[in-house]
Amino acid sequence: MDLSKLNQDISNVKPSVLRQFDHDISADPKIVKLTLGEPDFNVPDHIKQAAIKAIDNNESHYPYFWGVQELRDAASSYYHDKFGYNYTSDQIVVSVGATEGLAATFHTLFQPGDAVIIPTPAYPVYKSMSDVNHLQALMIDTRANGCVLTPEQVQQAIDEHPELNIRGVVITDPSNPTGAVYTEEQLHALVPVLRDNEIWVISDEIYGELTYGVKHYTLSKWLSDQTIVINGLSKSHAMTGWRLGFVFGPSGVIDLIAKCHQYQVTAATSIVQYAAIEAMTNGEEDAEAMRVIYEKRCNYLRTALGKLGLDIVKPQGAFYVFVSLPDAWKDDSMAFAKKLAKKQHVGVIPGAPFGDDHAIRISYAASDESIHAAVAGLKAVLEDIGAVPV
Ligand code: PLP
Repeated sequence: MDLSKLNQDISNVKPSVLRQFDHDISADPKIVKLTLGEPDFNVPDHIKQAAIKAIDNNESHYPYFWGVQELRDAASSYYHDKFGYNYTSDQIVVSVGATEGLAATFHTLFQPGDAVIIPTPAYPVYKSMSDVNHLQALMIDTRANGCVLTPEQVQQAIDEHPELNIRGVVITDPSNPTGAVYTEEQLHALVPVLRDNEIWVISDEIYGELTYGVKHYTLSKWLSDQTIVINGLSKSHAMTGWRLGFVFGPSGVIDLIAKCHQYQVTAATSIVQYAAIEAMTNGEEDAEAMRVIYEKRCNYLRTALGKLGLDIVKPQGAFYVFVSLPDAWKDDSMAFAKKLAKKQHVGVIPGAPFGDDHAIRISYAASDESIHAAVAGLKAVLEDIGAVPV
């Protein structure tokens, strides 16, 4: 068969450098990994018990494609109480992790050729989803404003690209890879330009429960008729492998997203949905125990990296620190990550896939021991390249 006749936008999608690099360094038995965005905690026990009970109760049938009604009811009040979302259960689709929710949303909202603004540094999956849907990804560098998109930048993109049909923007708040969190004012300031230009917002709030000393806000508060919110249990309840997410959106468009979700995956797994009811009913405090530990690690890293003279984006959420490499490092971010892995057995992710080839991302979803080892390893490499302050 002639493969050139297949969807070339798929073959153009770059393989996940992130996972490939993580895989490659895993061959080293001494490696200390601060690579993946994966909570280093177990699923809370009461949720595990609910899953076991669902199996015993033979909850083994095709669930309704939107998701189990009781789960959508529970999610509606859980997120209303946490963040003030205003979505009834018929405006919520239960997806197979946030990722499938994102995929169904990208596929539904846009037509081939439309442009989508992706503020960078960004989670690489958005670009891949733009590519497979034949969209134009307009990457906007936000590093000069603390990694937060400004209304001026949106307006500038519109003015400078009259040839583009800018139909969407992705807001990741808190951010992977930088840990930046939008203030209420910063989010609110985006409303007029997005409303006037009828730009859909995909608001990825998967790290919403993991903020440090600041509150999480949602753009859906002011722009509910043109915002699709993505959330889920991967980070808040350490359930990455269980694949449970939510899509929240206004009536009309959410019905189309539900259809798209149905033809792609049928529904999220029945057992996991029943376990998720428990998470949404009795698991309001589950994230807090983890959040407190992440915050301590975050504070430690901020101080330790500061002492090494490294420039970081102020992390206020998620579980990442995005570190600019010192000027003394003349090569790219992959070369730095490789050197750190090879010489010091410390694994971090190069900044290139996120849109900054002179940075690295450190995940602190890892033990204190690993984090201390990573700082020591980083220090040794910086000394080696002559970049440690006296
Ligand atoms: N969105 C962001 C910003 C992420 O960092 C991740 C995972 O790292 C996801 C979505 C994917 O979440 P899920 O595991 O629920 O698909």
